Amino acid sequence: MPTRTDLRNVAIVAHVDHGKTTLVDAMLWQSGAFRVGQDVEKRVMDSMDLEREKGITILAKNTAVRHRAADGSDVTINIIDTPGHADFGGEVERGLEMVDGVLLLVDASEGPLPQTRFVLRKALAKQLPIVLVINKVDRHDARIAEVVEETYELFLDLLEDDETHVLDFPVVYASAKAGRATLTAPDNGTQPDSPDLEPLFATILDAIPAPTYTEGAVLQAHVTNLDASPYLGRLALCRVVEGTLTRNQAVAWCRADGSVRTVKLSELLMTDALERVPADSAGPGDIVAIAGIPDITIGETLSDPNDPKPLPLITVDEPSISMT
Ligand code: GDP
Repeated sequence: MPTRTDLRNVAIVAHVDHGKTTLVDAMLWQSGAFRVGQDVEKRVMDSMDLEREKGITILAKNTAVRHRAADGSDVTINIIDTPGHADFGGEVERGLEMVDGVLLLVDASEGPLPQTRFVLRKALAKQLPIVLVINKVDRHDARIAEVVEETYELFLDLLEDDETHVLDFPVVYASAKAGRATLTAPDNGTQPDSPDLEPLFATILDAIPAPTYTEGAVLQAHVTNLDASPYLGRLALCRVVEGTLTRNQAVAWCRADGSVRTVKLSELLMTDALERVPADSAGPGDIVAIAGIPDITIGETLSDPNDPKPLPLITVDEPSISMT
């Protein structure tokens, strides 16, 4: 199968305060994404008022980090935020629907906490490869080896007996705050020996599969989430699964009720660092936002008007709030 070697889609999963925002900031910074003069203190993923009020991240959004691979080619890493809390039914599933792997970020002192469990269970059920990032290894109260052990135990707890091969995941040790990572466990409370996050980038490129697609397949773009723009109205966030989606193209809108309508998009946007920017076209694996279909909803498919092929609707497990 052909693959998009220039692309990786990964979800980031962490308990609140384990350092998700700091890590994504550092990855952006090291990819040169912040323009001179831009306020780097600006929080990357916690931009919405509700999120700020609650101090937690609710809506899955993506940040596109560009990275130069060891072979000199440029790779876009789309990082999808997933909520740290399990009580926003469906957000987790929607986030995981867009990706080919998961970065599980765990605080080197606190260890894996209950909120991580729900998301991890979902990721394992979808058989997504995992990269474990032990963050804050510089903390004076870090207990790195124990926390790795606790995370393995959590996996064992969530996995069936015949699934333990999943335990074979890479571990990266990081100080997001210092923007440094290493593949060998540092001493508790010390900085990783590498000067930057290169070991993390390399591990993502290596362990998270690039999107695959079928040569000559018709367009299929899956609506996995919604957003709104004051200028463009409802935005449908889609992962292009097969084929190419172009700006101003007539597409078949395969609706949840089984009906199909031919519609025209008014805008096609892709993410550049933190911003949505207009794009001419998007290929398999790309994550896009489209405007112009006011009633479009999650689980629906945009396809070829001459041969519409809907993807399965997304099923959502409503988690209970009192999860432990
Ligand atoms: P989020 O809720 O997961 O997005 O966590 P944040 O990125 O907001 O980080 C929570 C707190 O942990 C902040 O005070 C960060 O400065 C701190 N923090 C993040 N990464 C590190 C790290 O590598 N080392 C230390 N010592 N503190 C960190």
